[in-house]
Amino acid sequence: MAKYKLEYIWLDGYQPVANLRSKTQIKEFAKFPTLKDLPNWGFDGSSTQQAEGKSSDCILKPVALYPDSTRKNGVLVMCEVMMPDGKSPHPSNTRAGIPDDPGAWFGFEQEYFLYQDGRPLGFPENGYPAPQGPYYTGVGYKNVGDIARQIVEEHLDICLDAGINHEGINAEVAKGQWEFQIFGKGSKNAADQVWVARYILMRVCEKYQVDVEWHCKPLGATDWNGSGMHSNFSTSFMREKGGKAYFEKLMKAFEKNMHEHIAVYGPDNHMRLTGLHETQSIDKFTFGLADRGASIRIPHSFINNDYKGYLEDRRPNSQGDPYAIAGRILKTIASVPTK
Ligand code: ADP
Ligand code: MN
Ligand code: MN
Ligand code: MN
Repeated sequence: MAKYKLEYIWLDGYQPVANLRSKTQIKEFAKFPTLKDLPNWGFDGSSTQQAEGKSSDCILKPVALYPDSTRKNGVLVMCEVMMPDGKSPHPSNTRAGIPDDPGAWFGFEQEYFLYQDGRPLGFPENGYPAPQGPYYTGVGYKNVGDIARQIVEEHLDICLDAGINHEGINAEVAKGQWEFQIFGKGSKNAADQVWVARYILMRVCEKYQVDVEWHCKPLGATDWNGSGMHSNFSTSFMREKGGKAYFEKLMKAFEKNMHEHIAVYGPDNHMRLTGLHETQSIDKFTFGLADRGASIRIPHSFINNDYKGYLEDRRPNSQGDPYAIAGRILKTIASVPTK
């Protein structure tokens, strides 16, 4: 038998963006636990904007687990928040109600800034560093500094150890800005991985005295890029059947539901979706081949493959909730007949 450190992770009730919360519970198991070995647990919802003080217990229901290589016998346990009955989802639980389907594949490109002393890592105390240009996929101290790469490499290794399906990382357009990409099959599975990867990143940053700035436009209306979470998606039908006629119907449905999509694509997105910095304006819906100024970018492979494959919705932002984003995309797709 060994004592395992189970780090129960959940999303709190803050609006418009939930914070990650976690606490450790020790349990003894003969071998590395599986989901069904993990009991529900509780927490004080009055401290997380999830309950009134009088009756404050909320329930944590484990939904996914990942080995934590930073701790001896460590386990990261992603949880849904449930009402005290343990059965009904808490109103803050955006995971419980979304459509899911293992044939729906998602690739999330999570962009973020590393911040220290209230400014992006590498920015001088006053003013700005040299303008954007060399930082995207850049190398060298003057482009990426000295701490950032330690952080992103350490983050990557811990995520890979955890079984999180990273597909890559890169330095982004603004100084101090980075990206990781996660691919997963099924909306819940893919989004769980994004949330746990966010959690790991914030935890890695603690010892560097660095914070992750998830806001989509931390530098406001300047010539510095904002942060997105481009959401690449495909269903079995899109990959196997597809076709131009279906694609056109799909884009009509996306256009019709434009506002419903924007509503869950992250707060303050009007600051980022301006039509500049490789974005489309928030009040327009467009799609285009390899067009980084469109709402939805069609990869070359999609056209070359007779309108089969995946599409990239470029509108979701870095602070968006991947459960809500994936759920909304699947809802719109489900509104389009496949016959
Ligand atoms: P770019 O920066 O050029 O937009 P990235 O390489 O950062 O491209 O991201 C491409 C994303 O597309 C990756 O997250 C990958 O997982 C995702 N992807 C690739 N194929 C599919 C597919 N069939 N369905 C869904 N997502 C996919
Ligand atoms: Mn990318
Ligand atoms: Mn990017
Ligand atoms: Mn992209």
